[in-house]
Amino acid sequence: MSMARTIREFERWRLEQDAKHKTLGFVPTMGYLHRGHLSLIQAAKAENDLVAVSIFVNPTQFGPGEDYERYPRDLQHDYEAAVAAGADVVFHPSAEEIYPSGASTMVEVTGKMTTKLCGASRPNHFRGVTTVVSILFNIIRPDRAYFGQKDAQQAVIIRKMVRDLHLPVQVTVCPIIRDEDGLALSSRNIFLTPQERAQARSLNRGLQKAMEYASSGVDGSRKVSILTKIIRAEIACQPLSAIDYVEILDAETLDELTEIAPDRDALAAVAVRFGSTRLIDSRILSAAPKGEPLLCTSI
Ligand code: AMP
Repeated sequence: MSMARTIREFERWRLEQDAKHKTLGFVPTMGYLHRGHLSLIQAAKAENDLVAVSIFVNPTQFGPGEDYERYPRDLQHDYEAAVAAGADVVFHPSAEEIYPSGASTMVEVTGKMTTKLCGASRPNHFRGVTTVVSILFNIIRPDRAYFGQKDAQQAVIIRKMVRDLHLPVQVTVCPIIRDEDGLALSSRNIFLTPQERAQARSLNRGLQKAMEYASSGVDGSRKVSILTKIIRAEIACQPLSAIDYVEILDAETLDELTEIAPDRDALAAVAVRFGSTRLIDSRILSAAPKGEPLLCTSI
């Protein structure tokens, strides 16, 4: 197991592995690893000879006044957790290594896919994500890359970028890992006070209720307006919550829907603030009962 802090060090590691005939899986992260991240590393390990994990808090995906400075960091813990989960190398570059002085190229998926949901309140966020993922793909040159359904919109956008740019990497999206109380694991959960955390469980409860109603088959159960009301009602009654959005869109294209089609998945997505912490969560809704996928899905 190795740590590479520069592109040159990563290249050296690659040469040492005689990586030519070995497959390389890649898990990009911003660190402060939890079981959600580790599930991606384990999925990568199961399908590849070697696994690279990046830990890089990417400045270009944070807007002014967002939490770039205070984003939690714990490299020692991350390194050990990544090894235990099966990583062969951790790539932990500085911001200057990724964006050397004078770098001015951005990679952007244009259109409504990136301006709705989180894109509406975080205008340049996804441009920062697609830029850093492109740069990391070019440095790591993985065969497969692993992302979490936790960042559902990000996963859709990355898939689109990979298709549009004909990037030679297979993208796999893995299910959301939750705490026992249903709260989706997130590095930002440590910022929640005990009261906020207790109320944050309403995100999963609302999504779960909508999922059950959508697959119940009763009259109106596929109507997006009714399903969003169910989710909103569950969250809005928590006094510390401030809803950013509750939306149900086509799971593949993020197009608007009025009804969930019997043969297509819909994505119910929420973003809610508790104090200064913004949480996101989502569930796949389908007219036929299915629940959250247990296995990763690839393109
Ligand atoms: P982050 O460090 O937050 O940028 O996340 C790195 C990767 O881990 C992204 O692909 C996330 O979607 C994924 N991830 C974060 N939280 C979870 C979770 N609770 N379950 C599964 N994947 C997750």
